[in-house]
Amino acid sequence: MKKILVLFLVLTNFPVFLTAQAWLPTKKIIRRDAPVVQEPLERLSKRLLIPQRRADDFVPDTAHLNHTPIKWVRINLHFVNSTSKKHNYDGAEAVQFARDLVGAANGDLQRNNQLWLPWKNQIPVIPPRYAYVLCSQKNIPNDPGVYFHYDDELCFYVHKGGNANLYDRRVMAKYGVGTDSIVNIFIMPHHPDSMLSPDYKRSAGGVGVMLSEGIKMAGMFESKMPAWAYRGILNHEVGHFFGLFHAFDSDGCDDTPEHGNPCWNRTTEPPCNTQASNNMMDYNALQNALTPCQIGRVLMLMNDTSAFERRYLIQDWCSLKTEEEVVVSDTLIWRGDRDLKSNLRIAKGAFLQVEGRVSMPENAMITLEPGSTLLLRKGHLHNACNRKWQGIAAPRKFLGRRGQLILEGDARVEDAANW
Ligand SMILES: [Zn+2]
Repeated sequence: MKKILVLFLVLTNFPVFLTAQAWLPTKKIIRRDAPVVQEPLERLSKRLLIPQRRADDFVPDTAHLNHTPIKWVRINLHFVNSTSKKHNYDGAEAVQFARDLVGAANGDLQRNNQLWLPWKNQIPVIPPRYAYVLCSQKNIPNDPGVYFHYDDELCFYVHKGGNANLYDRRVMAKYGVGTDSIVNIFIMPHHPDSMLSPDYKRSAGGVGVMLSEGIKMAGMFESKMPAWAYRGILNHEVGHFFGLFHAFDSDGCDDTPEHGNPCWNRTTEPPCNTQASNNMMDYNALQNALTPCQIGRVLMLMNDTSAFERRYLIQDWCSLKTEEEVVVSDTLIWRGDRDLKSNLRIAKGAFLQVEGRVSMPENAMITLEPGSTLLLRKGHLHNACNRKWQGIAAPRKFLGRRGQLILEGDARVEDAANW
């Protein structure tokens, strides 16, 4: 009889524990004024440029990479050819070239590489946490996101000289697909007349330019190199698209030394044994490394809800995508904004201070385990797609402190169903 009674109590109490009582009631939320903090002058001056945002705050935490969910950039590729079809890759060969190019470019973005400049630096190698997806049109069956255009008037690209047309936007205006949400990349042949000049031909191995409507790249077909050889050009131009300047100039990053691009590649002889660069945003043979500040800048723009460039990302943060939770199990501060794709759990006794914007996917919840603390110091919890997320749960425990939420200053919790 006793056993039956215990079982009855467990069965009746268990669902209540999981649902109604789990949501953090308003009276348990601690509200307090923001502390008066004297900001260092240097930080204030940076804020004048980008209010309350610093690239450093967006650098992925390598100890907790899943706290910076990957941003996927929509791209498509266009092969522009003459009506003779003699001047560019075509058909299945071109589609394979496009896939290889995107795969190789993503490979460099996934890994990142040790920077060559400054010589013998100790700059950490941080995964950039963004990558490309070849984007097809939903209304076209079997669309690979790769397109072909045969146009004798617009097909050729001239990088320099009196007939230079790199800034000509007509080919993009005529053939662009989904230009308001997909980065359109046009692979074009150099003009055959320009290629007759030895001087032009020397620098025609692979070039690119970023315009507001998309990116033009040239030299891929003529040189007959495999697609991976051009991954750096693609990454460089997309880097411009997401707000990066040339690293050799004054680009606003302290970790990118200024230089005059003296070396195309590393050699065993001076000066290019120590002065060569592999930075993606310099001019060099590799273009396969980004500094923490450069990565922070890209992610800062991608996480800016008012940024034009954010429209080019797959909005996979709107609804709950994965069963895997983001778990905070130590003491952390999230200064940069982020769009989570899963539930968030603050483990027993852990502490998370949020100083930026955190988007929770639709129907997601934040769980505060007993003894944990979530401090929103100027923080902002919401759903970036104007949908409802569930809210903050703090399950009761018979003994010990329930998880606590502290709102400081103008901290905000929005779009939560249980709030
Ligand atoms: Zn450039």
